[in-house]
Amino acid sequence: MFFVRSGEQHYCPCCGGALKVIGSRRRGYIKDTGERVVLMIRRLRCEPCKRVHHELPDILVPYKRYCSKSIEAVVTGEKVLSVGADESTISRWKQWFSALATYFLGSLISITARYGKGAAEERSELPGSSLQRIWSYIGDGPGWLARVVRPVVNANYWVQTRSAFLSG
Ligand SMILES: [Zn+2]
Repeated sequence: MFFVRSGEQHYCPCCGGALKVIGSRRRGYIKDTGERVVLMIRRLRCEPCKRVHHELPDILVPYKRYCSKSIEAVVTGEKVLSVGADESTISRWKQWFSALATYFLGSLISITARYGKGAAEERSELPGSSLQRIWSYIGDGPGWLARVVRPVVNANYWVQTRSAFLSG
């Protein structure tokens, strides 16, 4: 059992209010080796708006049983896979990502614009696949999927599209 304690400051993704720890919840996931791991994830409540959020470690993707690293390897198309997932799970990850790539890209463009980093519209005209365009925002180095997931979750774009996400 591992306890997740991220060092970063937490703010409510809905209203930006301060979050208070109110407890924890078990969250299981499957590592790229196939090993099952249980994490204790903190439950956080926003003082101003009272919504409850859960801490999201970089190794996880919301509603996914496998770690971010495994899903990333499949989406990137790495030849040698050691993800310990069956073929149907792997093909669902590919469908999941291709269904959402444009949405993720739009979220990153919107987040970039919101935080005034500029040039979002020009960059959105770049040629290439959605994945290449996503990489132009967050880089293509290892951990890129976590770098997509975290800002989208933190900007509260994830919850609103929950129905668009396939489980697994
Ligand atoms: Zn709030």
